[in-house]
Amino acid sequence: MVEKTTEMSSRQRQILKELENCDDEMTGQQLHRVLHDRAISMGLTTVYRHLRVLQQKGLVRCRNLPTGEVLYTPVDRDNHHLTCVDCGQTMALKFCPLGNIELPSDQTKNFQMLFHTLEFFGRCKNCCQRQQPN
Ligand SMILES: [Zn+2]
Ligand SMILES: [Zn+2]
Repeated sequence: MVEKTTEMSSRQRQILKELENCDDEMTGQQLHRVLHDRAISMGLTTVYRHLRVLQQKGLVRCRNLPTGEVLYTPVDRDNHHLTCVDCGQTMALKFCPLGNIELPSDQTKNFQMLFHTLEFFGRCKNCCQRQQPN
């Protein structure tokens, strides 16, 4: 069952607030640490559970790195990244290249769209140069 956006628990509000306060993306562990520093005791499992609910409410988005790490941001930050498969360096694109992309309407008409992800993987300049024999 999908809960209504307005029905947010105080803990979910706290998590969302921390994500909004942070200029960068955060992992579940970073969130857990920040909440701990603010004397808000919440187990790591609970943090992940609330993050999942916030995703289902369409308030938080996530992306997966090749390292298996998951990064969370508020859903209104429509950022996409170039990520280096060697050193893991990640660079935000200046704008969302998808814009108002058209999707097959017969497939999306019965689907409530919340957010999208788009990732690009490759090798950064430093890693390319390191691999070239001098
Ligand atoms: Zn690199
Ligand atoms: Zn986008």
